[in-house]
Amino acid sequence: MGEFELISHFFAAAPCAQGGEGVALGIGDDCALLDVPVGEQLAVSTDTLVAGVHFPAVCDPLLLGQRSLAVAASDLAAMGATPIGFTLALTLPEVSADWLQAYADGLNRMARQCQLSLIGGDTTRGPLSITLTVFGRVPAAQALRRGGARPGDLLCVGGELGNAAGALPLVLGERQADAALAQPLLDHYWSPSPQFTLGQLLRGRATAALDISDGLLADCGHIAKASRVALEVNLDQVPVSSALQGFLGHEAAVQAALTGGDDYVLAFTLPPAQLSSLQAQGLATFHVIGRVLEGQGVSLRDGQGQDITPRQRGYQHFRETP
Ligand code: ADP
Ligand code: MG
Repeated sequence: MGEFELISHFFAAAPCAQGGEGVALGIGDDCALLDVPVGEQLAVSTDTLVAGVHFPAVCDPLLLGQRSLAVAASDLAAMGATPIGFTLALTLPEVSADWLQAYADGLNRMARQCQLSLIGGDTTRGPLSITLTVFGRVPAAQALRRGGARPGDLLCVGGELGNAAGALPLVLGERQADAALAQPLLDHYWSPSPQFTLGQLLRGRATAALDISDGLLADCGHIAKASRVALEVNLDQVPVSSALQGFLGHEAAVQAALTGGDDYVLAFTLPPAQLSSLQAQGLATFHVIGRVLEGQGVSLRDGQGQDITPRQRGYQHFRETP
């Protein structure tokens, strides 16, 4: 199968490539064309996933299709953007129709969930690598950036943390577990749900936001730095799933929630006045886990208010040097 046959069979003909709102021209020409309404800005983000680095070299291509798009789409959600489309640059060691069909099926599934249209890409031969660029739109000056947190704001997260990190030993085949215990964690790893509803709801309310890809404490550090404030996390308020506690035990589950990556849950700062109106609408569930203070860096407190910020090597990068 040649390059053009491959593109037209698996991608141009895919359900997710049939256009959608904002797509004036999709696959087939030199460029795709997007319509951005007057008064809105185009939000753009790229992610590359390399086999053996970002996902196991041998894995289910359908799950990989889901996950690769979810990881990229999550950045749009974190800006409060409305999804439009994405491009797919695929580097393949060989052409396997079965692999491509399953990968495209996974991509279609996540594209439908995120309401993203496949609008173009590139297909080359080489070690397996996947680059997705996502496009969304957001009302001018309303994108959720990292730099607006203010002392007095609440620190919040959009869901339970640590599940994907907990799943990693299962994904890598380093550990086995009963399906009942393993499946909920594996689902989080292979099929993260970009929080579009929450992100769009936070426009004009949250002062800063991002999606947690490197771990709660590390990513809170990005907000603290960009906003020139200190963030304080209350350990007791960090949501940890019962599935994760059942699999890892309480202590390791909490560690995974604090420092494990790959969750793609939103972390954001919210002026207290916004809290009740957001909760009253009941449109989004989220958890208050701390607050914003004057200063710098990220600190962790236990139930008694003691500072228990990890100090040992390996956690140093969670603390800003003065
Ligand atoms: P060009 O040579 O002009 O860059 P290509 O021959 O690479 O164009 O691609 C032809 C068309 O197919 C373009 O519209 C391109 O965006 C699209 N395309 C190529 N590879 C993919 C892919 N993996 N997924 C989706 N669309 C693709
Ligand atoms: Mg090309």
